[in-house]
Amino acid sequence: MDIIADRVKQIPPYVFADFQRKKQEMVAKGADVIDLGIGAPDLPAPSSMIEKLSKEAKKTANHRYSSFQGCKEFREAVAAFYKKQYDAEIDPETEVLTLIGSKEGLVQLMQTVINPGEGVLVPNPGYPAYRTAVRLVNGVVYDLPLDASCNYRPKLDELSEQAKQAKLLLLNYPSNPTAATVSVDVFEAAIAFGRKNNTFIAHDSAYNLIQFGNYKAPSILQVDGAKELAVEFGTLSKNFNMAGWRIGYVVGNKKVIQALAALKSNMDTSQFLPIQKAAAKALNSDLSNPRENSRIYEERMHVLYDALHRLGLEAEKPRGTIFLWVKVPGHYTSSAFADLLLEQAHIIVTPGHFFGSAGEGFIRIALTVPLDRIQTVIARLENVKGMENV
Ligand SMILES: *Cc1c(COP(=O)(O)O)cnc(C)c1O
Repeated sequence: MDIIADRVKQIPPYVFADFQRKKQEMVAKGADVIDLGIGAPDLPAPSSMIEKLSKEAKKTANHRYSSFQGCKEFREAVAAFYKKQYDAEIDPETEVLTLIGSKEGLVQLMQTVINPGEGVLVPNPGYPAYRTAVRLVNGVVYDLPLDASCNYRPKLDELSEQAKQAKLLLLNYPSNPTAATVSVDVFEAAIAFGRKNNTFIAHDSAYNLIQFGNYKAPSILQVDGAKELAVEFGTLSKNFNMAGWRIGYVVGNKKVIQALAALKSNMDTSQFLPIQKAAAKALNSDLSNPRENSRIYEERMHVLYDALHRLGLEAEKPRGTIFLWVKVPGHYTSSAFADLLLEQAHIIVTPGHFFGSAGEGFIRIALTVPLDRIQTVIARLENVKGMENV
């Protein structure tokens, strides 16, 4: 008997496993490996959130189950955040749902809206969980090709007639892995496309508060009527350095949110109340914590960007996220270049094809180590042999 279901057997192997094995071998030999591969913040969660969590954890009432759709305090904080940040009206009773992290919510969205054989437009390159989530429900992945020629904005007009029939369009700005950012006109175009082609839209705003300079990342809910055909996912993981806390939300279209809530009520019972209450406090705050995080990432980004530029490595200077998306030099493939950096410089980066075929020819560098380590990275890059034939 083969105990494992086909749907799980078909999950593509985790591309990074091989790399992690090489890293372990090097670390075992005493190498000082610097990991710029993992897309998770290195900075601490705000101390005020930790205090709120401990305070709430001491209350017996908070040890009960949360309501399925999440506690009122958190849903109201999300609605207030949307009003303050985007001037968007959200009904905390029907248009917000607490998630145990947005990854879980995105995967469950596919189960909520996609029947077998129905199509989903997935960014390529894009966050790998999207693709897997579509396959797990036997949906059909249609590539939404993104490239430098259009600043990684979707070319919706150029899609094939078949791809335009997709039931769902996934977007993610500021973007992982490309660090691309957009203005609200991209969302206006997406909503117009959705109306015309009867396509629903899900926007993943995981990096919405990691923004540099004067740039302010828009929300799709700023577009008039967006709630008729869109939802937006958000998370405290990156903005507030709370990745392990597992707290996120989805806002927007009532019908989809209520259906997702119905599905979830059969799978989980929302997040631990003290975590929801601490997250509510974070969203209700003056947002100085994400601003300070952005300042730190921006400083790291500038230092590394300038050094890459000196070394002849091409990248777009990002206006947000925790990543640099760097063109691989010369004749290297993404994998070969990542291998070169690991072997010669003991630096781990993510090969671009990990995020889809269109990521080939790029690497993603996460800005998730302190500035002194970035300086070490730069010193090591300067000594890498084989990069000169750019
Ligand atoms: C990190 C990340 C997520 C997942 O965040 P969680 O809320 O921690 O599950 C979702 N989307 C993108 C693009 C991410 O980079």
